[in-house]
Order: sequence, then structure tokens, then C-alpha cells
Amino acid sequence: MSIFEHPSYDGHEQVYFVTDEPTGLKAIIAVHSTVRGPACGGCRMWPYANSEDALRDVLRLSKGMSYKNAVADLELGGGKSVIIGDSRKHKTKELFEAFGRAVDRLNGTYITAEDVGISTDDMKIVHSVTPHVAGLTDIPEASGDPSPITARGVFLGVEATAKSSFGADNLNGVRVAVQGVGHVGEYLCDYLHAVGAELVITDIHEDSLKAVQEKTGAKIVAPDEIYDVEADIFAPCALGAILNDETLKRLKVKAVAGGANNQLATPEIGQKLHDMGLLYAPDYVINGGGIINVASELKARWQGGKHDPEWVEGKLQKLKATLTEIYDRSKGDDTPPHEVADELARLRLVARHVEMA
Ligand code: NAD
Repeated sequence: MSIFEHPSYDGHEQVYFVTDEPTGLKAIIAVHSTVRGPACGGCRMWPYANSEDALRDVLRLSKGMSYKNAVADLELGGGKSVIIGDSRKHKTKELFEAFGRAVDRLNGTYITAEDVGISTDDMKIVHSVTPHVAGLTDIPEASGDPSPITARGVFLGVEATAKSSFGADNLNGVRVAVQGVGHVGEYLCDYLHAVGAELVITDIHEDSLKAVQEKTGAKIVAPDEIYDVEADIFAPCALGAILNDETLKRLKVKAVAGGANNQLATPEIGQKLHDMGLLYAPDYVINGGGIINVASELKARWQGGKHDPEWVEGKLQKLKATLTEIYDRSKGDDTPPHEVADELARLRLVARHVEMA
């Protein structure tokens, strides 16, 4: 299949295939859109079975970043990168230096950051050869780990979802089933517990579950049982594609609102959720808190100043209001929320194209 006809190509501005023989680096950097600013999105290291899987993943993630940044109204475009390899076996200083040189050759068109399999230490190495890195920990403008801010955004989104779905003014006594208590999921549980929500949690790591249970009194279920839990809200905070024909049959909730990327296995699943009367929070809308935090660091670096948590909180509140508007339009037009969100993102991208013309 030719790249231009790839189902996930969607008019990407650039797709940059990188190899570096001495270090064994194989990577793809995808720049979906720079109309709103430099394409910003993390780098994922994953042992993809083949380059086709890597290409599909990077194209979908990169487009998702364009939409996420547009809906969060950030002056950033969308891009993403993947390194093909096992993050537990194949990491070397030289590999990340080679990746950094590749990012540098794009001259700021793409700004990289951490994603699955990549740590802040890896990004420190990348930063030693290129300035085009965000989410740093060791510069004066540093915004640090984005996960608590992603979780805060998801928490506000759960509030908006509970209000739109079943009229709850607060989350006291609302039952939330959380899939994955890693970086985002654990902070989300803290937020939910603090306002009296009742938690049911799962993870593949026993120690993570115990830690959250001790703090919040959450009920633990086995990973596969989370889809059968009777709850008000299901909050996926682990994997993508968990909303599919198989899991839809099992869900006993009123709404789905969580931090994981690419939750819908296919767009048709979003239509099915809507037809079932389940409110779905479009993932790239509700999980935009992390990139908002990163944008604050970039703003400080470009305009002078410091990372600004107040600006970030204001943006999170606006994102909550945007999510409520998406739900209102979804109900008014009888259109699934993910389609309303896609349309909003596309309109914002087209509007910027027109401004620039
Ligand atoms: P993480 O790796 O820290 O946490 C994921 C957790 O899910 C881990 O505890 C893992 O053990 C658990 N898990 C894996 N497979 C599971 C399964 N089958 N059943 C139950 N639990 C399982 O990652 P994270 O940073 O918390 O990110 C979680 C999700 O949120 C990802 O989809 C990520 O892309 C998305 N996201 C994260 C951020 C961020 O700021 N970290 C921002 C936007 C989106």
C-alpha cells in the first residue's frame, strides 16, 4: 500500500522515516498539522511486530494530537513519533542521541516529549542534542510530569459527564470503575476519593492496586472483570481499543469517561455507544490536561517567564466547558460526542488555515 492511500494518512504534512545503522535506531516521526503551531506530541517506544503496525500507530496518534491541541485551543500543531524497539531491552544513550539528531533535522517543525516506554531521563539525552523537546524536568521553565494534570483534567471531565449523563451536581456517592491505576489512574482515584466517589479498580500490577486501595478503600476486581462492574461511570486509564463489540455487550454503566488514548476500537463503536444511550467522553478532549501543562512550559520558554499553573487550571476549566458543549450538541443533533468533537477540531484547523491564507 502506498503511504498516501494509507487509511490513517489523513493529509499528514510530513512523515519522516528514520534509520541509524550504528545505533540500530528505527523510528517514524509523523507531522499531521502545523497550522496551529509546531507539531507537538510524545515519542512512544514499543516492540511493534512490523513497520506497518508502527506506521498505523504513529499516524493515528499524530492526527489525535492535532485534534487534541485544537480542541484545547493551544498554539500547537499535531505530531507524534515512534521508536521501534523494546524499552526494557533496547535503550542506549547512543540510540536517543540518534533520535535527537533526527528531531533536530526537522528544525522545530516537531517537538517531542515522553510517551509510553519513554522516561524523562531518555528525554534528557534527546535534549542534549536538540532543543526541540518538551516536558523537561531540569530547566527553569520545567513543567515536570504531566500525569497529575492529565488526571485533574479527567476528573473535571468526569464531573461534566456525570452532570450531562445523569444530572449529578457532584460526585459524592457516584460509583466509578477505573481500569488501570498507573500514572493517570492513581491520581484520578485520589481526586475522586477526595469528593466521596465510590471506587472499583483494576490493574495487572498487584502492588499498584494495593497502594490505591489503602488510600481510597477502593474495591479491587480482576482485569477482565472491570467490564462487568455495575457502576455509574467506566473510566479507562490503561489501554486503547478497549471499547469494542465484545466489551460493549458487557458494560453496565451510564457513561464512559477516562484518560486512555484511542479508546474506541473503531469510530462505529462510538455510534453504537450513542445508540445504547451511553455518554462517551471523547478521549482526546478529556485527556488534554497533560499537553496543556506542556504548552505552559513551551510558552514560558518562547515568551520568557515561568511555567504557570494558574494558566493551566484556567485552560482545564475551559476544556471542561468545551466537553459540556460537546455533550449539549450531541444531544441536540442526535450525533455521537466523538463526531461532534471531531467536527469542532476540524473547524478550528480549517479556521486557522483560512486566517493564514
Ligand atoms: P501508565 O503506564 O503509568 O499506566 C497504565 C496502567 O495500566 C499501568 O498501571 C498498567 O499496569 C495498567 N494496565 C495495563 N494493562 C492493563 C490491563 N489489561 N488491565 C488493567 N490495567 C492494565 O500510563 P499512564 O501515563 O497512566 O497513561 C494511561 C493512559 O492514559 C494511556 O492510554 C496514555 O496514552 C493515556 N494518557 C496519558 C497521559 C499522561 O499524562 N500520562 C496523557 C494523555 C493520555
